[in-house]
Amino acid sequence: MDIPGGDLLAAVQAFFDAEILPRHRDWVEHVVRRREPAPFMMDLRAKARARGLWNLGLPERMSNRDYAPIAEITGRLPWASEVFNCQAPDVPNTIMLQHAATLAQKERWLEPLLEGRIRSAFGMTEPDVASSDATNIATTLRRDGSDWVVNGRKWYITGGAHPDCAFVIVMGVSRPDAPRTGRHSCVIVPMDAPGLRIVRELRFMGWEDSIAPIAELDFEDVRVPAENLLGEEGEGFAAAQVRLGPARLHHCMRAIGTCEVLVELMMARAAEWRAFGRTVIDYDATQQAVARSRIEIEQARLLVLRTAERLDKEGHQAVWRDVSMVKVAVPEMAQRIADRAMQIFGAMGGSDDAPIHRAFAVVASPLSWRHIKDHHRCYPRIGIEMACRFATSQSSPSAQHTEPGYGTPRPSFHVPLHSAQRVNC
Ligand SMILES: Cc1cc2nc3c(=O)[nH]c(=O)nc-3n(C[C@H](O)[C@H](O)[C@H](O)COP(=O)(O)OP(=O)(O)OC[C@H]3O[C@@H](n4cnc5c(N)ncnc54)[C@H](O)[C@@H]3O)c2cc1C
Repeated sequence: MDIPGGDLLAAVQAFFDAEILPRHRDWVEHVVRRREPAPFMMDLRAKARARGLWNLGLPERMSNRDYAPIAEITGRLPWASEVFNCQAPDVPNTIMLQHAATLAQKERWLEPLLEGRIRSAFGMTEPDVASSDATNIATTLRRDGSDWVVNGRKWYITGGAHPDCAFVIVMGVSRPDAPRTGRHSCVIVPMDAPGLRIVRELRFMGWEDSIAPIAELDFEDVRVPAENLLGEEGEGFAAAQVRLGPARLHHCMRAIGTCEVLVELMMARAAEWRAFGRTVIDYDATQQAVARSRIEIEQARLLVLRTAERLDKEGHQAVWRDVSMVKVAVPEMAQRIADRAMQIFGAMGGSDDAPIHRAFAVVASPLSWRHIKDHHRCYPRIGIEMACRFATSQSSPSAQHTEPGYGTPRPSFHVPLHSAQRVNC
């Protein structure tokens, strides 16, 4: 089913309102609390696909400029992107395969990714070197007969711990004697290759990625056929760069959606909360916090849209500086907004009953991706894991829980349901 470009935004919004938002409590219950797949996810994805709402983050479906408002919608909830097969890191990996893969590689890895039958990961960062300088990457790719032999350790590999992750694109040194920027190549390594081991699952600032669980991976004499080389040997950076722009930009688009939710929550909380004889929204400091947040979101959105348009028209090589600016500006903006939300929510802002500290961790993650030679870096994890579970959990009996040390069950969040609905959380 093909929906004309202009109608896609309306269709995604309608689908989000009717099919995704009402299931958020369930999603939190299954995925976050019980750590099991959401039972409705497959059906929901099939439904989205049947309506043409599938793979929207890919250039052949939509320009980055047109995708921006859609990504904002999906950024409102941590799992919404997955419904439309728009989740990270699969979209940037798909784009990389589209650019660099051979026909046989496309058939084996790209097709099932487009179909949503498998998941993927991108492995550059290593625990033993400063990976912000990607020329430091030390994992070795040694040619032995008709195989590549991979040895090394990677960490913070988004999606690497997902049970459906079928392959990881590994960056490593294949030409140690070449100039620094010509040493690295990328190979596709199936997750079930002998010698590849998930060492552990990682969290970031206490935040766990429920959509694309983050892994530390060990490669010990892992053999893959020579034809698993992705792109040309020695051009690993070039191959990886095509995923860089969309990956970062899409993350920032979703971050703006997250920030919109935070502002709505700030207003909802401040409007119904009283302190020292006044409703919190009546304090000048609160109004300033909301107003500043609104201004900063609008500024960030314009920067993102401009960069998206330039990326569409001029390509990554021409706009990598803009992409780098966005990667800094949006997370910094989001951190400031999360900080204000934290103030307005008091202690609850840092509890698991509110999504704010999760937003902090997720929006902070791109700040850790900063690099000196920025165009040699990648590996955005996207998915703004901002668990909006606080507001969604209050009306169901499962929302009642006993806090350690308190003894009596209490609602996990105090904003009444009507507020929760108002803020789409
Ligand atoms: C949530 C999350 C998800 C991630 N997902 C992935 C993924 O899917 N795949 C993947 O490969 N990686 C992933 N990463 C890793 C991320 O790309 C790296 O953290 C990033 O590239 C920085 O590398 P590093 O952690 O080794 O930091 P380091 O390189 O150790 O850098 C630490 C600091 O040193 C600074 N620095 C480094 N060199 C210099 C210099 N020459 N001069 C001055 N300052 C310098 C850096 O700017 C930085 O501030 C993820 C990270 C996070 C937090």
